[in-house]
Amino acid sequence: MNYVILDLEFNGTYSKKRHKFFNEIIEFGAVKLDEKLNIIGTFSELVAPQISKKLNSHVSALTHITYEELSESHNTFTHVMSQFKKFAGESMLLTWGLSDILVLMENCKYYFGKESHDFLPYYCNLQTYCQDALDYHDRAKMLGLSTCAELLKISFEEESLHRALSDAKLSYLCFEKLYDYYLLSKSMEKIDTEFYKKITFKNYAICDMKDPEIDSREMFFVCDQCGRKARRKTKWKMKNKSFRARFRCFWCRREFEGRITFKRTYSGVNIDKRIVEIPDETKPVKSKPTDEFLQ
Ligand SMILES: [Zn+2]
Repeated sequence: MNYVILDLEFNGTYSKKRHKFFNEIIEFGAVKLDEKLNIIGTFSELVAPQISKKLNSHVSALTHITYEELSESHNTFTHVMSQFKKFAGESMLLTWGLSDILVLMENCKYYFGKESHDFLPYYCNLQTYCQDALDYHDRAKMLGLSTCAELLKISFEEESLHRALSDAKLSYLCFEKLYDYYLLSKSMEKIDTEFYKKITFKNYAICDMKDPEIDSREMFFVCDQCGRKARRKTKWKMKNKSFRARFRCFWCRREFEGRITFKRTYSGVNIDKRIVEIPDETKPVKSKPTDEFLQ
């Protein structure tokens, strides 16, 4: 199977027709590889905006593309898409992160009435692939393309970044360095209806205690000091999307607040439990400005 690494530049705009914000694709850039990862073709096309009347300042600052340049390309999205289809053939699609494939779906839906790009059989998220390959698991942030290239000692010019083809090429260099057949076969996903449901699924916190997806057997806490089960002292309360109650450990003679969040993701419910110290109430409470203060 061949591979196509796609990168898109897009401009956020408001569609009056659809009454919603829309990310309009303004540039396609792609690299096509054979099974041995040799580059067998590149694709680079600007798309003339049909919805946007101008480019957002951060888009023009980042890409250095001008609105005039786009208009003069006279390329419509449907035209570029059909060319891309021919270019890609039946390759596996790879993008750095999900945003490009989501934006591609959004544009296909807008122009063709359906979000599928059914000509592509498989997909791989190159960002999570590289994170796994590098064992980069910083929960606070995702691995950026330039950070990945730096980690792999791949040189690139800062100013050439954020153009579709150069980003696709840089993604290719990272992919080539981290290529691992086993990891790739584990990371690739079949593009079908289930796949679309999965990548468009919006995670949410379950805030109703009676929700059948909440497992009430999880509503307990063990003391973080002795590991014994703590006793709940108050009723559960919902605050900032977490269930909270006060607990007491009989053995350690300590009290704490237990917070549980139930996050619904596509694949199931993730439970997060946190123990929070209760502020020492024996401390004198700071006095508020009182009436005498105002006199
Ligand atoms: Zn304890």
